[in-house]
Amino acid sequence: WAPVDFERHGRELLASLREHFEHVRDVPVARPYDPAGLMARLDTAAPERGEDFSRILADTWDQVVPDLVQWNHPAFHGYFSTCASFPGVLAETMTAALNVNAMLWKTSPSASALELVVLRWLADMAGYPADADAVLVGGASLATLYALGAARDAAYPHDVREHGLAGPDAAVPRIYTSDQAHSSVDKAAITLGVGLRNVVRIPADSGYRMRPDLLEAAIAEDVAAGRRPVAVVATVGTTSVAAADPLGPIADICRRHGVWLHVDAAYGGLFALSTALRPALEDVSVGDSLVVNPQKTLFVPLDATSLHCRRRGALANTYRLVPEYLTSAHPGGAADFMDLSPQLGRGFRALKLWWVIRAFGLDGLRSRLDHAVALAGELRGLAAAHPDWHCPVPSDYPLVCLRYQPSDGPRTDTPEGRAALDALNARIVAELNDAGEAFVSHSVIRDGYVIRISLANIHTTADDITRLWAALNRVAEKTR
Ligand code: PLP
Repeated sequence: WAPVDFERHGRELLASLREHFEHVRDVPVARPYDPAGLMARLDTAAPERGEDFSRILADTWDQVVPDLVQWNHPAFHGYFSTCASFPGVLAETMTAALNVNAMLWKTSPSASALELVVLRWLADMAGYPADADAVLVGGASLATLYALGAARDAAYPHDVREHGLAGPDAAVPRIYTSDQAHSSVDKAAITLGVGLRNVVRIPADSGYRMRPDLLEAAIAEDVAAGRRPVAVVATVGTTSVAAADPLGPIADICRRHGVWLHVDAAYGGLFALSTALRPALEDVSVGDSLVVNPQKTLFVPLDATSLHCRRRGALANTYRLVPEYLTSAHPGGAADFMDLSPQLGRGFRALKLWWVIRAFGLDGLRSRLDHAVALAGELRGLAAAHPDWHCPVPSDYPLVCLRYQPSDGPRTDTPEGRAALDALNARIVAELNDAGEAFVSHSVIRDGYVIRISLANIHTTADDITRLWAALNRVAEKTR
């Protein structure tokens, strides 16, 4: 292709995307699952000769897009739904076009400079010290892994990089987190050689918040037994119900015992920007490290996650390793982001954050987060006013957990009745998603199986909530 062909095909692509977005409400959010049929259509031999781009694009719309789950659909409410805003989508194109590697300041000076800038912006939004070390990484799971790697090394007086955990001081490492915390904590423990058996799951209270008294007791017991507390992972915005652990008391305990506090605010952290939620939010600045996930809440396309660490130098202490070919002499104040995580080659993630934050402005982002919070309030209000729906967990975040319990349905006070209600709610999720009108996910909490509805799409309106509520009721009536 010559640059002129690139432009021509780019216009073709943008025109087709425009049409897609203009009609996105008319397409199913997801199609019923058919792995064999899908593979039969897509699994061809690699072509020997290059093909025409218009054909490739047409095949993509015909063969690929219909079997994607439309995460950008205003009725997509699964998991922590994410939303790629238009400036973010365009930034990804620009990033791919420039294709810089932001591993060293020397390899990409203004990409590294912009990364420093957006990291400071994100820290300010979340209420974390702006002068902390920080780095953009490929997801919150990785951020937690990297933070816990640094915490592990900081917990041992001997050089863990040199000797590993079986070094001169081989005390068993322990990581504490609530029984509600994300599975990424367990994955980090596996990867770091800490082991799942050394992840101590602290029970949560009735509001799904980690109990500080039980945390303190667990740490004291381990210290008495000669085990080594490495880190506590507290969550702001838990995956199941968006609860927030009480960071103040947890931080006090960590300080008293000299234990690293990592705050997983992947979901909740950036709601500090919202007018509606900010006053009620936990103060994340008490964490030694913090992860926030703009890809979940700031309308930035996957992947965009930031890891912040106020223990200056700790990330580099674990991850800085410079082979000869990567040495550079650069001016003071510059950043070599390869020093702050195990990743070497890294893309220009900062650009999409820079574009999205500039395009919306803090005020634009704030009002959109407030809008999502208001929509969640509407949905909770509808459920509260209906005798057959329950909202078992009060939460201020735009994550709504609902349970269908028809008053003339199975009893809630027997195990059999509760199991029947679990099955009924699971069928509602399956039917609703199969119908393609909306996409929701689920969780199992103390009350049982709940339908989990995440509201994060920038295009979701009050009318969409009305439609979702009608669909939920229609499917529930039909399914019971
Ligand atoms: N932490 C929490 C609280 C989450 O809910 C999730 C995922 O939903 C993660 C971490 C992992 O995020 P990622 O998919 O960016 O690794």
